[in-house]
Amino acid sequence: MSLTINDVRAKMPNYNNYKEKKRRGNIVGIAIHHSETINRATGAPVGNAKNLFAYQTKVQGLAHGGYNYVITHRGKVEYALDENIPALHAGFQDPSDTLGLEYGEYWNNHYLAICLVGWFSNGRAYRDTEGYTHVVPDDYTTPNDTQLSALVGLVEKLQKQYDIPVENVRGHRELAGCQTICPGLNVDPAQIRQQLQKPTPAVDEVVSPPDPIDIEPQPGEHVVILPDTDRYFNALMVYIWKFKPDVSFAINEAMGRWKYVTIVGDETVVNESQIARLRQSGTVWVQRISGDSLTTRKISETLASESRPFLRLDELPAVSEAPTKYKNEDEDEDEEVSYTVQPGDTLSAIAKQFYGQGSAWRVIYEANRNLINGSVQVSPGQVLQIPPNH
Ligand SMILES: [Zn+2]
Repeated sequence: MSLTINDVRAKMPNYNNYKEKKRRGNIVGIAIHHSETINRATGAPVGNAKNLFAYQTKVQGLAHGGYNYVITHRGKVEYALDENIPALHAGFQDPSDTLGLEYGEYWNNHYLAICLVGWFSNGRAYRDTEGYTHVVPDDYTTPNDTQLSALVGLVEKLQKQYDIPVENVRGHRELAGCQTICPGLNVDPAQIRQQLQKPTPAVDEVVSPPDPIDIEPQPGEHVVILPDTDRYFNALMVYIWKFKPDVSFAINEAMGRWKYVTIVGDETVVNESQIARLRQSGTVWVQRISGDSLTTRKISETLASESRPFLRLDELPAVSEAPTKYKNEDEDEDEEVSYTVQPGDTLSAIAKQFYGQGSAWRVIYEANRNLINGSVQVSPGQVLQIPPNH
């Protein structure tokens, strides 16, 4: 599977004030959180890294946002805080260090933080400014599949990068000293770990081939497919003389007929889907020898002189993995973002936060005309649509 990471680090509030900060100690684990930001009427997850960081810095007074990565409701992976900066995600009071976790800063210094946007427990409620409690409907109480597969892809990448064992991929509530149900009672970290231990589908589908070094074909078990005879026959002479394989000129004839198949020539003569069909038809081992006739001659003569008809695994062309794509956030600003109004907010304060200038308040005003009812006043808890910043 492929993974796209949107680098939004430089767009976070106060970025210049903390960008040089460094974590103490190495990264040994990953903690998974949920944001508890939802649309109060529907329960739908709301927000992205920019919203979360704005809340944490403006309202909670933190130096910077609390997560290295944020995964939105739509499965967009946002790289929000440099991996070298400790995310303030799991602090706790342990002044005498009775847990042996370096005065409660252990998790922040040694664990990367990933936040799933949403609130993943049932029975959610909020209290309004008058003190009344309102129940939120039990919808959107689990991460969706897109979000979960983005999480698994990201965690796998980070595990590889920092050599993180699967038991150190944890839910926030599994970190000693943290009194929380984060990332929500409907998220089972053990299940995520189980998924991480599964082989990836690509590996799953391929029947593991025998080590070609051990193969000694009996007469009639091995065929050389040679579609471009004029070009390669001479180059193959020594090989054919030595191993006495059958020789065929059409790949289709080989389906279900030979146990071992050597294809001579590149993708233009026999392509990968034909090879896949060959495998499905029962062929145990397929190798390709390709290159110009001189290269082909060299390979086949080496094999003949070493008395082995097949290339070793390390001599075969590498299968390329799906690469991680890094994207500059500027290329992808199409997503309209929702923002929940916080106490003390004004339209121009929100405009400043999203667009960098308070005078842009009218953009938000226009986009939310129906909701704000012609008034320029906003009240805490209102969910505003913030149009993309173009
Ligand atoms: Zn958490």
